[in-house]
This record gives sequence, C-alpha cells and structure tokens, in this order.
Amino acid sequence: MRLLLIEDDAELANGLVHALAQSGHACDAAANGQAALSACAVTAYDLVVLDLGLPDVDGQDLLRQLRERGLAAPVLILTARDDVHERIRGLDGGADDYLAKPFALGELEARIRALLRRGQPSSTQLAFGRLQFDTATRCASVGGESIDLTARELAILELLLRRAGRVVGKQQLFDAIYTWEADANLSVIEVHVSRLRRKLETASAGVVVRMLRGLGYRLETGRDD
Ligand code: CA
Repeated sequence: MRLLLIEDDAELANGLVHALAQSGHACDAAANGQAALSACAVTAYDLVVLDLGLPDVDGQDLLRQLRERGLAAPVLILTARDDVHERIRGLDGGADDYLAKPFALGELEARIRALLRRGQPSSTQLAFGRLQFDTATRCASVGGESIDLTARELAILELLLRRAGRVVGKQQLFDAIYTWEADANLSVIEVHVSRLRRKLETASAGVVVRMLRGLGYRLETGRDD
C-alpha cells in the first residue's frame, strides 16, 4: 500500500517511514502543506497520515484542501493537541480517524490496518489456491506452514491476491512498494516477482504468478506451463 505521511518533525517522520516500510507500506513523507499538495497531485495514495501542526498551513485547512482536490483515501490525523474540539473538527473536516501524540507505533499501525480494511472484505484473511495470507499479521502460509517472504515480496503478493485472477500492471506494483526516493526502476519488480514465484513454488502454494508481456502480472491457480 502507498502511504503519505505529512509531518514536519523530521526525526519522527523518518522513524515512521522506516517502521511502515517494515510493515510492507511504501510511505512518502511531506514536511509541509505545499509538499503534501504536490505529492497528492501526482500520486494516488491508499492512506494519508496528517500531523495537524504544520509550519506553513493549519492541518485542518490542508485536510479541507486535499478533500476539495479529490483526495478519496482515508486520512488519519495526528495531533499533539489532545483536545476534543480539535478532534471533532478534524473528523467533521474529512478525517477518518485520529491519534493523539505521543502514540505507540503499534497503535498507529493497527489504526492504519483498520482504515485500509474499510471497503475490503471484513476478514483479514485472503486465500487463493492453497495459499493463505493474513493481512493483519502479514503472514503468508500454506497448510499452516508460513512462507519466508521479504516485506516487498509480501506487498506484491498482497496486491496480486486482492486482485487475484485480474491483471496488475508492473507500474502499479512499483508504485505500491517504492517511494520516490527509492533508487530503483521498474525492472526490480521482475526480480521480486521471480523470487516470490520461486518461494510460492517451493511451498507448493498451488498458485502461479503469470507474466503477461506488456500488461503485467496475474495470480492464477494451478501449474505453470
Ligand atoms: Ca508538527
């Protein structure tokens, strides 16, 4: 999933970006309102985490502007102002959830997972072929045996599973797992997919990642030919 973190505290932002990457999210960071507006203009985010105390704009005003410009993704607001009026204003202004600073990383991650599950089937379990994928624990398994996958392999697998049987473009996979700062190009997707494919085969997952030249990849059941 592709996330945008709008936070002017560089140390906190860096820490969160790294922690979220460990959980398989590609997270861009914007340090002010202007950077956030530019980011949202060019990237379709799955979720936005917005600190209300920003240097150039009031977070509540920024939220309104983002919604006016068509941002549809869930927004979780962070606020040092643990003030009930501020929270009500945020939720009324288009936020989906809030967390007061200081917060535990585990709680932020749980709230992000909950927001990303909205509009998805209520279960955290995805299944295809013999493969099971728990989106809450980020564990892929076959017959109860977990498969050892990297964060990026898990992110690719999740996207393919959510669209099982349908084609997912290489660029779509790339956008879901790499931030702009990543020194990578589209071809790395082929590397991740080939490793993922090998691991799925070794685990006898009963699914194959088929490449459709020029289109992308599709998760299918059965054997590769
Ligand atoms: Ca701040």
